[in-house]
Amino acid sequence: MDTLLDLLNSRPLVNGEERDALGDPAGGRRWAREHGGEGSLAELALLRDTRDILRDVVRGETSPDALSPLLEGVHQIPEITSDGLQWTVRTPPHARLAVEVILAWAAAEKHTPGRLRPCANDECQLFLLDRSRANRARWCSMAVCGNREKARRHYERTR
Ligand SMILES: [Zn+2]
Repeated sequence: MDTLLDLLNSRPLVNGEERDALGDPAGGRRWAREHGGEGSLAELALLRDTRDILRDVVRGETSPDALSPLLEGVHQIPEITSDGLQWTVRTPPHARLAVEVILAWAAAEKHTPGRLRPCANDECQLFLLDRSRANRARWCSMAVCGNREKARRHYERTR
């Protein structure tokens, strides 16, 4: 789940400039390894594609079936063990991390629909996953975007 959010949020705006954590091979491979990936260039390319499509899907700009080609060659294998039936997802090695992210997104859509969403600050490119009971969170971070909005409203009121 956190890899999903980390991947979606790997292109933040910092002082109005985009910083892509997957933008250069060294940084991107490090990112992948930190999240349990193998750190290959093929993996990095797939992670970038997955991220960019997912961002559009979560923003409602692209239909979710755009993710379908990324799941090519992925199988689920049933196995009877002493604990009963177990399903194992098999992917090409370089695709495992990206597939895990897509499956995490699908699970979030199914079990907590609408809770993964873009930050309400137009100048922010991040996403949030609202785990609160009220489900009214609007900011990726109260400390950053929430306070900025509060300050803006205060400024408008007192102007
Ligand atoms: Zn934000």
